[in-house]
Parts: sequence; structure tokens; C-alpha cells
Amino acid sequence: MPLQYADDTILFSSAEFPHLVNLKHVIMWFEQISGMRVNFRKSELLTLNLDEVEIKRAASIISCPIGAFTIKYLGVPQHYDNLTREDLQPLVDKLLSRIAGWRGKLLSLAARTLLIKTCLASIPIYLLSFIKFPKWAIQILNSHMGNCLWNDLNDAHKYHLANWEFVAMSKDFGGLGVPNLRDSNICLLASWLRRYEKDKNKLWTEILDFKYNTKDPNILQTRGASPFFKGFMWAVQAAKMGYRWVIGNGEKVRFWEDNWLGTSSLAIQYWKLYRWVNEKNKSVASLWDGTDLKCSFSRMGDENMLELWEEVCQIASTINYSDEEDSMVWQFSSNGRFNVQSFYKVVNFRGIQPVFISSLWDIKIPPRVQYFLWLLSKNKLLTRDNLSKRRKVEDPTCSFCNEESIQHLFFTCVVAKQLWHVFSKTFDIHQLIVSFEDTGKFWLSNKCNGILNMFTLAAVWCLWKLRNDLCFQRSTWKSMAILLFQVAVMVEKWKILYPEEEVISQKVKLFKKEAAQVLWLQWR
Ligand SMILES: [Zn+2]
Repeated sequence: MPLQYADDTILFSSAEFPHLVNLKHVIMWFEQISGMRVNFRKSELLTLNLDEVEIKRAASIISCPIGAFTIKYLGVPQHYDNLTREDLQPLVDKLLSRIAGWRGKLLSLAARTLLIKTCLASIPIYLLSFIKFPKWAIQILNSHMGNCLWNDLNDAHKYHLANWEFVAMSKDFGGLGVPNLRDSNICLLASWLRRYEKDKNKLWTEILDFKYNTKDPNILQTRGASPFFKGFMWAVQAAKMGYRWVIGNGEKVRFWEDNWLGTSSLAIQYWKLYRWVNEKNKSVASLWDGTDLKCSFSRMGDENMLELWEEVCQIASTINYSDEEDSMVWQFSSNGRFNVQSFYKVVNFRGIQPVFISSLWDIKIPPRVQYFLWLLSKNKLLTRDNLSKRRKVEDPTCSFCNEESIQHLFFTCVVAKQLWHVFSKTFDIHQLIVSFEDTGKFWLSNKCNGILNMFTLAAVWCLWKLRNDLCFQRSTWKSMAILLFQVAVMVEKWKILYPEEEVISQKVKLFKKEAAQVLWLQWR
């Protein structure tokens, strides 16, 4: 039996003497007829369960060198054992060589995230769909991507401002949307389940069915031994909860264990009964014949169990058999068919839906400001209080008054307070902005507050730039009015991002007018 793709050919044979000789003859005839040559020196003989004498004999018949596992087929290491560090090294090298190509480029956090998302994270994707990556492997890849994100590209070490777990969450859940390799691994492996369902009569599914007895009664409860199948089943265990069965002839669905009614299996809903039931992992058809439910229990039931049993019988009586096969429906997509994205969304969700940070990406501001705000929202900017968690900081105060924290620098500092005061007047907001949440709540209604959001974020951005100029550029504080004008100029710069430039120009004018009054006040 051959396996052939592009310029790779694998021939399978039993190790018996006549078979090997025949195989050699077939190859030789092939050479004669086609006029092509098989390069035996570049080919390898791989054996399974043979002793040394037999291996040598086989090699002398075929006349090619003896090889050893792991071999690679289409870039995927083929081995009956788990992935080793050597198997993974080429992948890591590829990642590093890609990063090396970017060295010396001054890129913002936004640009680096984009490079990682589109380039680095996609390198292991192909392998992730075949093999369950061990934890250490994921860690190695993550740490290289982390270094690429936070260090400058000359590899000078910098603080990793946010945990990789956060970075690798989708934007909807408050992350930066870099693919989480572990989650991708589960989802890509689980997608084989869909292919398995689709390719019902193909050779590969028949081999699986034969080898792992997957038809008794369905694949969800199977255990396997090969690395691929183990990884596949690992993913299936997670994907299982997303499937609901539609009963046809009842031969594939397990009565107790599979989810065919409501949101969970009967085993979960009637755990008290299920514990003692003798007929586990049995199909619906084998237990329910239309009139009786054929179950027995390993323990005598009390009154409570009897009640539950009646309920289950009631449920069973609602089953309507048809001639069709039982089918699986994927609950997380609208068409009922599995897709990797919908599963990734479920797996990637870490239980907390952020209130407004996910709306940040819709606001019309430059990406690098968005990333800056993302850090701000996570309290990860290197303000002096955050810096002091990492190293000793001699002076913890801001350039003007009090201890510097994000809350202080952007909202309660004397300078920030004045700025927000002018801001409230321009936009006629009665409640003064005193915290990050106060600006964030306008993000949710970005459609009607688009301009306001541009202004608030320009204000926050300018405060940060001012702070950095005072700290690092040794520039001196000029006046409140200049800061306000800087905000106005910033918004004017950004207005090409916004569909209604005219409206912005008007607001900028108004803002400048308010700013001029501050100037006037100071002169007096
Ligand atoms: Zn201050």
C-alpha cells in the first residue's frame, strides 16, 4: 500500500521474505517502464517489531539504509511516542529566525502585536492541528513570542507589562487577540471530529473505526493509544459539551452519557440513578424499545430513586425513532456545524466579560493609542507606583503634587482635574470625569459619543506624553493652556479617521475657545 504526496512516497509492506522480494521487483519494473530512477541511497527502511537480524536482512533485500523514527511526513513528525524537544526544535528555530529578521526596527506595541498575530502565531498552527502539544512546548513558544512583544527588537530586556494569558485572550474578552496556542490546539484537534463525521466511508475513518472500535456506539467515549488519537480524544472531551444529538434510529447515541435532551446528559441530570445503573455506555436503541426501558441497578432503590426512575421513563417515552442515523448538532454556531472559531470563542472565554475594554477597538484613534489605553485599563502602565513593584523608585510623586498612580496621573492630579473641567464645559457634561470608568462608559455608546471619545482619549494620551516629557526629556511645565491646545491639535490630527470631519472641527474650535479662557484666567 503506498502513501504518496508531492515528492514523498511511503510504501508499506509486511516483513516476510517473499513480500519484500516482490516489492523490490515491483520497484525495479516501475523503473524500467517509466524510465525514472528510485534513489535507494536517499530512501530509508523503517521497521516495526523486528529484531536486528531481520532488519539487516530486509535492508539487504531492498538495498537501502536503515532509518529510525521519528520521520516527518508533510512536516509532521511521525512517531508512536510523544513529542520530544528535538521534534520541536525546527519550529522554535523558525520562530526565532523570523524574529531575527525584524531586529533593528523600531516598532510600537501595536505593530509588534500585529506581527506576532499574523506571522509568529501562525507558524505552529499546522502542527497544532495534528499533535497535542505538551505544556513545556507551549511554554517555549509563548515565551519567545512574549519576548518579541515586550523586548525591543534588539532583544534588550524590558518589563513584560502584561501576563501572556491576558495578551492571548480575544479582544472581545479584554485581551489583545493574539492566538492562545493551547486553546488553538484544542480547537484544531477537535475539528477532526467534524471531518470524521463528514468522511464516514473514507479509508482513514474506517481505520479509526476498526482500530479503536469507535462505532460502539459512537466516537465520543473511545480511548486511544497513538499520539494523534490521544490528542484528538483530549480535544473531543472538551468539544463534547458543545454537541447535542438528534436521535434518528438511536443506534449511535448513548442513552445516559450523551447529550440529546436539554443542555446536559441524563447521567448528569440523574446522577443518583446513573451511579447504580448497570447499563453504561449503551445506545438509546438498545435500551428503549418503544415501550420498556431496559435498565437494571446494582443497588436496591429507595422511594426517591423510584421517583427519578419514573421521570427517566417519562423522558424515554418521548423518543421518536426514524430511519435516519443519529446526528450531532454543534450548538455554538448558527448552522449547527462545528467550526474552529466558534469553539475557540468558548474555550478562550475565561469567565469574565469585561465591561467596556472590548469597545476600545471600535473607537477611531490610532492603534498605538488603543494599545496604550489597553495597558492603562489593566493598570499596567509604568507609572511610579507600578514601577515600584518591580524596582526601587526614589521619588514616588508625580511632577506636580502627589503619589503617582494611574488614577492620580490621569484623573485626580491638579493638572488632570483642570483638563477634565474644561472638557466637561465643552461637551456640556454635568458629571465631572474623575476615574477611568467615567471615560470608559462612553465607549459603549461609541456611535453617538464618537467625538467625545476621541477627545477624552486624546486628553489621556496627551497627559501621558506630558508626563514622559517632564520625566525623561527634562522639559519644563509651560501652562495649562498649552496642554489644552495640544489636545485640540491631537484631535485635529486624528480627524481623518472619523467620517464627519466637519463636526469635529466645530468641537475643536469650541474646545480651543474654552482653553483660551483658561489662558485668560491665568493672566489675570
Ligand atoms: Zn499630581
